[in-house]
Amino acid sequence: MPRSDAPFSQPLRARGAQRLLDIGVAAMVLVVLSPLWLGRAVLGLVKERRLFDGEICVGLGLAQFRRLRFAGDLPLAGLAVWWHLLRGEMALVGPRALSPTEAERLPAAAMARFQVPPGLISAYAVRRQVGIAFVDESSQDLDYVAQTSLVLDLGLIARWLLGRLLHGNAKPLAQPDSVAIFGIRLDNMTMPEALDWVMAASAPGQAPKQIAFINADCLNIAWRDPAYSATLRAADRVFPDGIGLRIAGRMLGFALRDNVNGTDMFPLLCEAAAGSGRSLYLLGARPGIAAAAAEAMRRRFPGLMIAGARDGYFNANEEDAVIDAINRSGAAILLVALGAPRQEQWIARHRAQLAPPVAMGVGGLFDFYSGRIRRAPPWMREIGLEWVYRLLQEPGRMWRRYIIGNPVFLYRVWKQKP
Ligand code: UDP
Repeated sequence: MPRSDAPFSQPLRARGAQRLLDIGVAAMVLVVLSPLWLGRAVLGLVKERRLFDGEICVGLGLAQFRRLRFAGDLPLAGLAVWWHLLRGEMALVGPRALSPTEAERLPAAAMARFQVPPGLISAYAVRRQVGIAFVDESSQDLDYVAQTSLVLDLGLIARWLLGRLLHGNAKPLAQPDSVAIFGIRLDNMTMPEALDWVMAASAPGQAPKQIAFINADCLNIAWRDPAYSATLRAADRVFPDGIGLRIAGRMLGFALRDNVNGTDMFPLLCEAAAGSGRSLYLLGARPGIAAAAAEAMRRRFPGLMIAGARDGYFNANEEDAVIDAINRSGAAILLVALGAPRQEQWIARHRAQLAPPVAMGVGGLFDFYSGRIRRAPPWMREIGLEWVYRLLQEPGRMWRRYIIGNPVFLYRVWKQKP
């Protein structure tokens, strides 16, 4: 494993325009806030008898530097960090600054992150802010380093600011393993934990399990539909989907670890299923859509077994045949896309007859992966506004869900506040 004092063999990235931006912004901040940092520096000096605290960080080309804070734990200690931007030891955007111990633990493949200086804002942090940082920090850093440019930085800064403005939260909140909204227990897992759970639950011979991903709209339905609410309470795992639940959690005093929705889980699930030989069955959406989604995923994940696919427009007389086809397919994981609450109710009603160990309701997922409906671009998802995109795509169908539903949902949560 490379040590942080080893000679650095990777070429450093030229970042002329980014460097200019860093210097410009840092100089501006230092000038505009000069009364503040002067005052804070003096306070620290008087109280602690020293100007700075700081810890050693590993920066550009593995060079170590002491990241400064004004002394003591009074507010505004972090203002001293702008100094490092002037010196070029840090940048506005870049991978997070690591301690020497963290840097030593990195695998050799991750060393390219030191081709650029560490940043105040990282690509990972932008996604973390709204709970959609599903790939690990290292691979996100490496993507950033490979593509680094002024435009990318400006985009990340804008997304970070917007995300912070819309959903930021200064105080750290508790992260209990499960939380309840409207009497429905939600499992507060990260996406990788949720995925591991699904993979373990879908092993051969496991007892039947039902999984639901629920968003603000589902909870509004559960509010007025006791049968749906009972189904969700009886499900084996219920995962929180979307920014509405994240805001609700915050209102109730807890933080949701991730936005665990079916659409983001699907490619990860396909990858894990391909690796472990588990097969999937896709049931739902308009004729041809589930099959098209299956085809797209087979192309993307060679070795993925999709045991069968069929549309979600069948009548009660056809139900036995549908269940029979699923059971004969030998699938381990059944994805049901009939929309909420139908899909969850359908699974619950037939859970005992269905052979796949895991069955989950997935809403419009096949529409996205078949290409029938475009998913919101990453920048919109990164600021928690995927729902706005869906509203614009299908205003006739979605206005009630979002324009009326979102405020109603938050009002109900607010009333639930202890
Ligand atoms: N659907 C279906 N059978 C029905 C009604 C709906 O297969 O009888 C499908 C529909 O084609 C769509 C999915 O169910 O693919 C529900 O999509 P929606 O956009 O409502 O899901 P969400 O917004 O909850 O993800």
